[in-house]
Amino acid sequence: MNIKDGLKPTTSPRVIDLVAAAGVDVSPWAVSKKGPVKVPASNPAYCYEWAYIEPDKLVLLNLWWHEIQEANGQVFTDTNLKDWAAQLRDSSLLSPEQRRAGVRRALRMDQAIAYAQEHNLPVRVIVGEGKPRDLADPNSPLSSRMDLRLLDPEPWSVARYDPVSGAARIARGSFPKYVDQFDAESAAEPLRRTVTGDVLIRDPKVRADALRRAGGCCEFCGKRGFQTINGETYLETHHVLPLCEGGPDMVRNVAALCPDDHRKAHYGEDRDTMRACLQDFLDEHYRR
Ligand SMILES: [Zn+2]
Ligand SMILES: [Zn+2]
Repeated sequence: MNIKDGLKPTTSPRVIDLVAAAGVDVSPWAVSKKGPVKVPASNPAYCYEWAYIEPDKLVLLNLWWHEIQEANGQVFTDTNLKDWAAQLRDSSLLSPEQRRAGVRRALRMDQAIAYAQEHNLPVRVIVGEGKPRDLADPNSPLSSRMDLRLLDPEPWSVARYDPVSGAARIARGSFPKYVDQFDAESAAEPLRRTVTGDVLIRDPKVRADALRRAGGCCEFCGKRGFQTINGETYLETHHVLPLCEGGPDMVRNVAALCPDDHRKAHYGEDRDTMRACLQDFLDEHYRR
């Protein structure tokens, strides 16, 4: 049996139980704007959602079993919730109320994916099956019914996400780990690492935050970092305004670059242009 078949849901546990089992706090389900709720499991503010966020811990997504793909031992779903929201918005089959609710849920799921990507969080998945809504077919049910569901015990991850288009790939398996030159060196030769001259202290959290922001792609050329022997994605962290010139060791001064661009940022004939470009990128990113 392949992996996908093993994930096919055959029972109908309550959504609230799966959400709680995934590690999401369900205590808010017990209250509504009007006060305590009789049956928290049926609280409409939660039970129909497609995605749940447990801040700094995990994201839980509902995925259709029939949309899961399996290729070369990889199990994943390609999805685009921004696109789906646009289709719901334009659908003439739905009432204004159904359109509004659908668009809201789709965009919340899109935000949940973006959140997991940005914070490098594991994604838990409720695999569902039932009757999906088909916006091209007037005879299809007007709201999707995911009657059968199971919580996959294995965590998934956001393998890629494009915040502009909304295109995302959610993949089953260990969530992505990012390393830079300092992590890779200390992992490879922990005892032989020698330090000469003045050591400028670099905060590991700053480096980790920059790597997470980059999501595995060079922030100068966009190329994906290579995979290390440990399966992590490698990019180098670079202080745009160098520490020795008084640049702060803060994430807004650190770019994650492919090795080639990192060397160019130091030694290339265009290094001044590159520095300005990276500075603009970071300023833009942290503009409030
Ligand atoms: Zn690059
Ligand atoms: Zn550098």
